Amino acid sequence: MKSSIIKSVLRYIEDTGDEIKEFRETLHANPELSLCERSTRDFILSKIPRKEFVCVHKFDDTYGFWVDVAFGGNASASSAAIRADIDALPIQEETGLPFASKNAGVMHACGHDAHAAMAFGALCAAVKHYDVLRENIKTGALRFIFQAAEEKAPGGALALIEKGVMKGVEAIFGIHVMPHIASGRFAICDGGIMAGGERLNVTLTGNGGHAARPEEACDLILLAGEIITSSQKLVSRNTSPLEPAVVSFCEIHAGAAGNILPSSLAFSVSLRSLDPVVLKNIRAGVEKIIKLRCEEYGASFLIEAVKGYPPMINEPGAVGKYLSAARNALGESGVVYPEKPVMGGDDFARYAQIAPGAFAFLGTGAGSETYPLHHPKFNLADSDILNGTKLLAALICEFAG
Ligand SMILES: [Zn+2]
Ligand SMILES: [Zn+2]
Repeated sequence: MKSSIIKSVLRYIEDTGDEIKEFRETLHANPELSLCERSTRDFILSKIPRKEFVCVHKFDDTYGFWVDVAFGGNASASSAAIRADIDALPIQEETGLPFASKNAGVMHACGHDAHAAMAFGALCAAVKHYDVLRENIKTGALRFIFQAAEEKAPGGALALIEKGVMKGVEAIFGIHVMPHIASGRFAICDGGIMAGGERLNVTLTGNGGHAARPEEACDLILLAGEIITSSQKLVSRNTSPLEPAVVSFCEIHAGAAGNILPSSLAFSVSLRSLDPVVLKNIRAGVEKIIKLRCEEYGASFLIEAVKGYPPMINEPGAVGKYLSAARNALGESGVVYPEKPVMGGDDFARYAQIAPGAFAFLGTGAGSETYPLHHPKFNLADSDILNGTKLLAALICEFAG
């Protein structure tokens, strides 16, 4: 039964490939920044099939929304959710594509246009196969989440969670296109797949002075140098080599002239780990180093902690469903398991803190013409979008017995 539904669903995706491609191109040409996705939302909503069993949940105070293909029974019971993000980035596009961004300085450089198209295609497949799916999925719904503001902390997932998007969700699935993985591949692992992160914005203050009289001043540049150097041992010496972690100093600002020791200095440091405990320990370590060194130098400090996203921990049961869908959609040779995690983050992790979740990567790499995510020349092939749509469509069949 399941295999005949899958066959029909995959054929449907092949047949409607042009529509899905156009859907993505329209989104790509009209990108909107995080928290500004009004026309993106309205465009997607205008394309949602109108049926009595299709329920749209949209709001006045967030452009994120979700669409249920409802099978009846308890209205709050939901079999499974698929999440796509819909926001773009402040980047001037340089692809030269016929459907390149019409909005100056804004670009879909993270593939969220493709994610939305894939989820839309899977939603249409669910609507088209409603009757046969309903025979097997007797209660609840298949939920398709179109989330705003993934690129901007604290992320648009929180707003939707507040609105009740996770009510009754038994499993949730997310996808991200990935140029460093070959096109046609699906990659996933159990446990941590994306890191949690936190940024510390630090300001040091102390007695400035003449460059020629250092004995009368507090040298904040030397102090910052010691803090930066000492912090490197937090990963190399204080964390197990088997626990991935990152301490990256990404900004430092001080000084205005070549003969003045400055009286203030600011830096920021990005901390990442796949394990919340490791992240907490690293943060405590950096704070301790700052405190001790500042005491030694007679400087003051102020630390502002900016929370990023939590680590994304894949639940093995949800991973199993994803793997089965990927084998059906892309074939055994298209499956990479277990894939290595990445130290970037995604606020999909917030959903997975509430219900079992699985986040996976869809390869879009195609040799030398491939550019990384967030690059002004980033693009992917139509076949990648088709692969992703098939994958998500096959995934909904996993819930059909
Ligand atoms: Zn991104
Ligand atoms: Zn992204």
